[in-house]
Parts: sequence; structure tokens; C-alpha cells
Amino acid sequence: MTTPRDHLVDWLRDAYAMEKQAETMLKAQSGRLENYPELRARIDQHLEETLGQQELVGACLERYDASPSAMKDMSARMSAFMQGMGGMAVSDEVVKGGMAGYVFENVEIAAYTALIAAAHAAGDEQTRKVCEQILPQEVAMAKWLLEHLPDTVTKFVARSAADRDDAKR
Ligand code: MG
Ligand code: FE
Repeated sequence: MTTPRDHLVDWLRDAYAMEKQAETMLKAQSGRLENYPELRARIDQHLEETLGQQELVGACLERYDASPSAMKDMSARMSAFMQGMGGMAVSDEVVKGGMAGYVFENVEIAAYTALIAAAHAAGDEQTRKVCEQILPQEVAMAKWLLEHLPDTVTKFVARSAADRDDAKR
């Protein structure tokens, strides 16, 4: 028998690995962005939120004496996806990065939405509250990225057309 709690712990581990991946991706994007200050500032804000999320999810795992595994399959797959989409060193990386970020945030939205139901099914109201606290941060980031994508694209294509070397990132 696999109990609701077993599934919950398993998915909390996935979420922890996902947040580690988020940290890596956000740090890489922030470190590379030079000419899109507004985007970089929002990424830095979400990086801080992400570190807090890691602590919150980690504390939920600790209550089950479950160690977070940073190398879950999902993280590896996500990592491969982000490398394909994330566009390090491609000429349009600010645009590809914005799109990839939006996709990643939506994966997080799905993960925490699932976790809220799983925590409730397992009778773990504390974990449910934690996930309900994290979810709006992912929703806000996804919304921001989507709303600002047209502006990023507009700036990028104008700079690119003028052969400006500040277009790419
Ligand atoms: Mg997150
Ligand atoms: Fe996020």
C-alpha cells in the first residue's frame, strides 16, 4: 500500500529539487543580464523568494525525517529542458530566457497546486498552508514574466535591428 503521506513526501522531494533548479536558473539569468535592469530586478526578487521556498519545503520534509534529494529525475529533465530553452549564449537569449522562465513558473504552479491537494489528503494542514503561501509567489512571477515579455521583445528587436551589442542580454 502506498499511503497519501508517502505520495506527499515524494512530491515534496520533487518540489525541493525543483526549487534548487529554480535557484540555479535564476542565478544564471541574473548573472548574465546586463541591459534589461527591470527584468533582472524581478529575477533577483524571485531568487530571494525561491530561497525562502526552499527553506519552507525543506522544513516540511524534515518533519517527516525525509532528506531532500537534489537529484531527482524531474530535476534532471527540467535541467535539460531549460538548457534547450534557456538559451545561454544564443543571440536572442533575453527572449528565450523570458519564455523559459514563464514555462518554469507554470510548472511550479502545477506542482504546488498538486501539493496542496496531496497535503490535504494526507491530513497535513501545515504543509498545505506552506504550499498555499508559496503558490501566489509563483503565480505573481509567471504573470509578471508574461506581461513583460512583449516589452522585452520590443526592446530586443529594436536593439538588434540597430546592431546594438546590448540587445542579446
Ligand atoms: Mg519556486
Ligand atoms: Fe518560482
